[in-house]
Amino acid sequence: MANLGIPRNTIEVLQKYNFTFQKKYGQNFLIDPNVLERVIGAAEVSGEDCVLEIGPGIGTMTQLLAERAGKVIAVEIDRNLIPILEETLSPYSNVTIINEDILKLDIKRLTEEAGGGRPAKVVANLPYYITTPIVMGLLEGGAPLRSITVMVQKEVAERMQAGPGTKEYGALSLAVQYYAQPEVVANVPPNCFIPRPNVGSAVIRLTKHTAPPVEAADVGKLFAVIRASFNQRRKTLANSLGNAPGLSVSREQVTQALEEMGLPAMVRGEALTLEQFAALSSRL
Ligand code: SAM
Repeated sequence: MANLGIPRNTIEVLQKYNFTFQKKYGQNFLIDPNVLERVIGAAEVSGEDCVLEIGPGIGTMTQLLAERAGKVIAVEIDRNLIPILEETLSPYSNVTIINEDILKLDIKRLTEEAGGGRPAKVVANLPYYITTPIVMGLLEGGAPLRSITVMVQKEVAERMQAGPGTKEYGALSLAVQYYAQPEVVANVPPNCFIPRPNVGSAVIRLTKHTAPPVEAADVGKLFAVIRASFNQRRKTLANSLGNAPGLSVSREQVTQALEEMGLPAMVRGEALTLEQFAALSSRL
């Protein structure tokens, strides 16, 4: 089977099927064998693994995954890509193609059934327009997953990995880090894709924690506090949390809780660690 990571082969397949890229689906196909190798290498795919690939495109990465994994499930929304995938993946009996919107699928059930008790790995060059709902859905949805290794927009990777006191740090950093250990493994320039995206890209691996890194009596409340804290990030916590809709805490209660925790009354959300947010939300 021709290596689709080589631009000439990708173009040949696209021409054969007269395929037109759909911008609304975030279609930027990888055409760099080294980058493909980096993604799959970072995911440490082995023969026992069940891999969920989101958005296989014409099957470039899927072929490489099929050669190394025990099983691959590839979920693609664009029905025009299905006949192409049926051809490019025809040599592999361990690949299942699903023509669906990943945001509408029951990923928990799918991975439970396919993995046979072993947590699955997610590997993908994600459609950037829905990166956050996909990643948060994977983390929050309770599906048995070991890791998520994905190509995303560079700025989004930086936000996922950011720590307190940086301008990238925010609700996404804390949400991701509650569930997983993030690590950016490669930066990828636009010329590795066809068509070229107008943003830089990065590969990030999220290794799921086996247990949450902090104790939170009420996870829903922890995330409500985090979201409200970063809604207006220039405001102090006392101002952004006091009277935030849905939280029902007063400015005074926030100030008192911060004082009990030994934090300055004027502190902003961007200064607090995940542990401090957990402690604050338990006090409120
Ligand atoms: N994996 C291919 C590659 O690397 O060459 C394609 C990656 S491209 C960035 C994103 C892929 O996700 C496209 O094939 C697109 O059609 C698909 N896609 C977009 N939205 C989707 C959704 N909601 N559910 C499933 N697939 C989706």
